[in-house]
Amino acid sequence: MTATHSDTRVLDGNRVARDIKQRIARRLEGMACRPGLAVVLLKAGAASRKYAEAKVKSCREVGMDCTVHDLSDDLRPASLHERIRALAADPAVHGLFIEHPLPAEVDPIELYAQIPADKDVEGISHQNLGRLLLGAPNMVASTAAACMAILDFYEVPLAGRKAVVVGRSNIVGKPLAVLLLARDATVTVCHSRTADLAAETRQADVLLVSIGQTRHIGPGHVREGAYVVDVGINFEQGRMVGDVDYHGVLDKVAGITPVPGGVGPVTTAMLLSNLVETASRQSGMRGTVC
Ligand code: NDP
Repeated sequence: MTATHSDTRVLDGNRVARDIKQRIARRLEGMACRPGLAVVLLKAGAASRKYAEAKVKSCREVGMDCTVHDLSDDLRPASLHERIRALAADPAVHGLFIEHPLPAEVDPIELYAQIPADKDVEGISHQNLGRLLLGAPNMVASTAAACMAILDFYEVPLAGRKAVVVGRSNIVGKPLAVLLLARDATVTVCHSRTADLAAETRQADVLLVSIGQTRHIGPGHVREGAYVVDVGINFEQGRMVGDVDYHGVLDKVAGITPVPGGVGPVTTAMLLSNLVETASRQSGMRGTVC
């Protein structure tokens, strides 16, 4: 299903997420097993727990299981890696997700190497990112996939268009650039050392921002008639705000994702979608219920 309200400039992530969840529900009807997600907490704080609880709720809503595992008590690599591998080996765990942000002492490269590709619902293990780069995707990086799902739902043209990605993180910016390239966009990737950010972003037909800087992108960064996808999650006096000055650019754009209610809910839906896929493969492998 694609959006019919071409008159609106709001690229509504909740609407896209509902559409994905309906497809998940239809897929689950035909499955003999109940998929299970394990969410790992490496930071003991309330924020991580809140995000994890939201995943439990989202899983339950669509009829899947979700367990939360607080491993923050011992972050020494050998011990942490062993516990991650043990979780991944549990047959009731079809997908594993590690809550962000990671504590500074944890090496993300070594950590994600512990997650088997077919249980990596976030799509950021070495193998999954490598396959994406090679044009043979397995589990696609969930936030980047969410941005693409929003653009597709609202039928934003990509082939031959200029896409500018701001942010080059391994989990969002880089996979997003690869996905856009695979759809024949001409892609520019910007970062903190980009000499003239506004000059680059003003070229964009589609501008995608993932930098974690409150309202850093304003009207001066955006071309008239561009589409803008704001991945950023920042907090200002307890309120969630994006990397883009939403109200400042709204009059200029053809479409923009709000924060909250944009990329966030679609990322969660993508995780669930990847979970159904991994569970279905694992049950198929065993030829029985999982
Ligand atoms: P990281 O924090 O890992 O990296 C930030 C990137 O932005 C870096 O590449 C950095 O450049 C670049 N950057 C920082 N400041 C500037 C600047 N002033 N101008 C240009 N580039 C800049 O990014 P993530 O992608 O992990 O997260 C970014 C944001 O997205 C955060 O707010 C995070 O919470 C949010 N997020 C939201 C998700 C969702 O579902 N909505 C999912 C994941 C993340 P350099 O490489 O040079 O340092």
